[in-house]
Amino acid sequence: MKFIMDRKTTEFLVAGAGHGGLCAALHLVRAGCGVQVVESQSEETLGYDWTDVFEYPVLERNGFTPLSKDKFYPVYYPTMLPPNKKYTDCPAGSWTKRPEMYVERRELLKSLVSDCKAAGVSFIFGAKIVSPIISENKVSGLNVVTSEGENAEIFADMVIDAAGADSPVRKNLPDNFNIPKALKSGQTFYTWRGDFKKASEKEPCQPYRLYLDHKNRPGISWVITTPHCMDVLLGNSIKPLTKAEVDDALEDLRNDNPLLSADLIRGGYATIPVRRFIGLMVASGYAAVGNSAFMADPFSGSGISPSIDNGRVLSEVLMSCKGDYSVERLWEYQYRVFTRNPKAEGALYTTAAENAGSEAFKNGLLGMNPKDLNRMFVGGLIAARVGLKGVKQVFDIFIHNIPRLPLIAKIGFIAIKKAKAEKLAHKIPKEYDSAAVIAWVKKYEDFK
Ligand SMILES: Cc1cc2nc3c(=O)[nH]c(=O)nc-3n(C[C@H](O)[C@H](O)[C@H](O)COP(=O)(O)OP(=O)(O)OC[C@H]3O[C@@H](n4cnc5c(N)ncnc54)[C@H](O)[C@@H]3O)c2cc1C
Repeated sequence: MKFIMDRKTTEFLVAGAGHGGLCAALHLVRAGCGVQVVESQSEETLGYDWTDVFEYPVLERNGFTPLSKDKFYPVYYPTMLPPNKKYTDCPAGSWTKRPEMYVERRELLKSLVSDCKAAGVSFIFGAKIVSPIISENKVSGLNVVTSEGENAEIFADMVIDAAGADSPVRKNLPDNFNIPKALKSGQTFYTWRGDFKKASEKEPCQPYRLYLDHKNRPGISWVITTPHCMDVLLGNSIKPLTKAEVDDALEDLRNDNPLLSADLIRGGYATIPVRRFIGLMVASGYAAVGNSAFMADPFSGSGISPSIDNGRVLSEVLMSCKGDYSVERLWEYQYRVFTRNPKAEGALYTTAAENAGSEAFKNGLLGMNPKDLNRMFVGGLIAARVGLKGVKQVFDIFIHNIPRLPLIAKIGFIAIKKAKAEKLAHKIPKEYDSAAVIAWVKKYEDFK
């Protein structure tokens, strides 16, 4: 066993170079703390090799150098298609830009790491975290395998878990910490994602086509026309697609989208946690941020911006702890994450409670059969182009759907579930009282 870090020299150890961990690291190091990040990837291969929808003001808001605007390109609102693909109310050419932009994920991470390094954060790349070190009921470091294949222990006063949805830190915490470890059935979104060359430079009918239950599998798939390529995602909530299923789904999308060629530029499989925020994200000496705390939106899977903003919240709480990283003290971080209103800070993503509601809503929709989804489009219960409806429109939809009252009842039931999930999230205890917190976590996690 090799000791590559003296326990006294590192106050904060960040597990994985996740976005929220990097944001916390930046603020802590600027406040004069010692921070070390341990990451399994090399610096060059850090981050997914694709483009993402991104709220670029989040960088400036959190003290990062803004990326130059030429790194971004526009993203449009999606046009939804039901499983039978027969209905769309989006006329050709009516493109509306979203306030977010597309950015290459590796460019973004390169920039975050560069800011952290310039501020004094130290990085160990190519080191695989195996598990947390636990002593006296507290997380006190990480067991890692270095890039040379050696086992090593790194000690710290506090571990920030930014190692993503499958974090080996969270998964190996002792049971008595009461932190949920794994995703339950239906909480993982299995995707295959690829960029293809454009078959021609013609303008597509719609720039962003979102297919609900494509090939009758519960989930979403998309075809996005970008300035550089055709971006395809095949996603479902059951299991990863086989190679044959990917090929078959791509062929179907090619029939619909003449610009989509068979010339693959890059692509591969990935998963996203699509569930409410984790019920307990802190323990003594430990806090999870980003995907390791399931902070991505359960509907869209977007999680970069909430991870970064919540990384800053974590750093603020850590700085106020004055060396006391007990669970009682760290609870303030979780309470702030659950009760903060991102919109008040200029963000576009939803609150933790709204996320819980979204998960319930998403589960309800995924539980519907494809025929019901088709009917919802025909009756206007879902508009291909989501927008606010006036009283008259709502009344018309109601009249139009009287023959579909059982369907309306199902949707009503889903809406009630959504409201209940939100209410439960709002009931998070303000102060850390072990019994009250454990009881709330159980209710919140068990909610179906
Ligand atoms: C197909 C797909 C599309 C997406 N599209 C968007 C989008 O358009 N917009 C958006 O906002 N979000 C999107 N997301 C979600 C987004 O990727 C996450 O929400 C976001 O990355 C926040 O996660 P994170 O930074 O906490 O963790 P991650 O991005 O998972 O990073 C975790 C880090 O920890 C490292 N790590 C993991 N295990 C170990 C280990 N054992 N040892 C050392 N290091 C380790 C990893 O290498 C990685 O660098 C998408 C995700 C997927 C899969």
